Amino acid sequence: MGSLAIKNIGMVMTGDIQGPVIDGPVSILIENGKIKAIGKEGMDAERSIDAKGMTVCPGFIDSHSHPVFGDFTPRQNQLNFIDSSLHGGVTSMISAGEVHLPGRPTDPKGTKALALLAQRSFAKLRPAGVKVYGGALILEKGLVEADFKELAEDGVWLVGEIGLGSVKAANEAKEMVKWAKKYGMKVLMHVGGTSVPGSSTVTCDDVLIAQPTVACHLNGGPTSIPIPEAIRVIEKTDCAIEIVHCGNPLSAFEIGRFMKNNNLLGRLIIGNDAPSGTGVIPLGIWRMVNYISALCGIPAEAAVCLATGNTKKAFGLSHGIVRVDDDADLQIIDAPMGSAGNDAKAAIECGDIPGIAMVLIDGVVKTQVSRNTPPPVRKTVAG
Ligand SMILES: [Zn+2]
Repeated sequence: MGSLAIKNIGMVMTGDIQGPVIDGPVSILIENGKIKAIGKEGMDAERSIDAKGMTVCPGFIDSHSHPVFGDFTPRQNQLNFIDSSLHGGVTSMISAGEVHLPGRPTDPKGTKALALLAQRSFAKLRPAGVKVYGGALILEKGLVEADFKELAEDGVWLVGEIGLGSVKAANEAKEMVKWAKKYGMKVLMHVGGTSVPGSSTVTCDDVLIAQPTVACHLNGGPTSIPIPEAIRVIEKTDCAIEIVHCGNPLSAFEIGRFMKNNNLLGRLIIGNDAPSGTGVIPLGIWRMVNYISALCGIPAEAAVCLATGNTKKAFGLSHGIVRVDDDADLQIIDAPMGSAGNDAKAAIECGDIPGIAMVLIDGVVKTQVSRNTPPPVRKTVAG
C-alpha cells in the first residue's frame, strides 16, 4: 500500500474532545493505512486527494450494533445494511450481541460457541470494508469463571448487553461482570424498558450493582428510564454513557444537555442500536450527532467526538481520532446542497446531515459521494 496525501482540507474535526479542531488549510499524509503526518505544508505522496476546502473527520464507530453474520440481518430480513451504513460515514461497528440469530442457543456451551464463531467470522470478513467487532458473549445462566477466561484467551473481548440473555438479576450479573473485566473484556448493559419479547427491563439500581463498562442506550432501547434515574447512573458510576438513535429522543436531549452542562461530554458515546425492531438506519449516527449538536447547543466538532474519539477511548481501539499513528479511517464532508450552513460545521449545528464526499478505511477509498446523504456542495479531486 503506497502513500496518499489529502490536501487543501478546510477544517479537521479531530474526534479528540481535548482538542477537537485543527483549522485549515491542512494536509494529512497516510502511509500503510495509518496517519503519518498532519501539517500545514505540502506533503509528498504517490497519490493525492484535493479536499477542495472541505472538512475531514474520523469515520464513525457505531458503539451499538446487532449484526449476526455477514452483511445480512435476520431481524428485518435485510441485506447490505453494513454497506448502507458505510454510506452514512460508519467505518466500524461494535456488536452489542448477536441476539438476532434465528434459534439462538441459550445454554452455556451454545452462547460461548456463538460468541467465538461471530468473533472469528467478523475478524476474517469486513463487509463493505467496515470493521465489525463481532462476538459479544450473551450472558446465560450456568456460565462460570473458566468460561470467561477461555473466551478471552480465544480473542472474545466483548460481553453483549446484559439483559438480553437469561442472566437478568443484577446480583447474578455482577459476579459475571467481575470475571469478564478480570480477563480484560468490555461489558455492555442494556438500560431501560424491555426492548423486544425475551429481553428484560434494567433499572438504574441494576446498573449501580453490576458496574458494566458501558451503560447502553441510557435514553432507552427504545424505552427510557425516567430522567432523574438516568442522571443517577451518570453521577453514581464511571461507566461510558451511551445514547442511541433507536431510543427516546427527549431523553437523549436531556442526557446530552446534562452532560454538556456538567462538563461530562468526554464520557458520552453515540450508537445506533440497529438492526433492531426500529429497523436499519444507515444515517442513524449522523442524525444523532446533528441532533445533539443542534438541540443541545454543542459545537459540531465536539458532537463528532461522541461517535469517534470517545468511543475509541471507551473500547481501546486503534482508530477514531485524526492523529499520527491512528488508522486512517476518515470521512470528507461538506455542507449538503441547499443547507443554511455554508460548511460542514455550520450545517451540523443547524441540524442538517452533512454531505459525505468520501469515506476511507485504513487509507483506502471505500466510497466517494455517498448514495445516502444529501450531496455535498463540493467534490474531491484525485491527483
Ligand atoms: Zn438494548
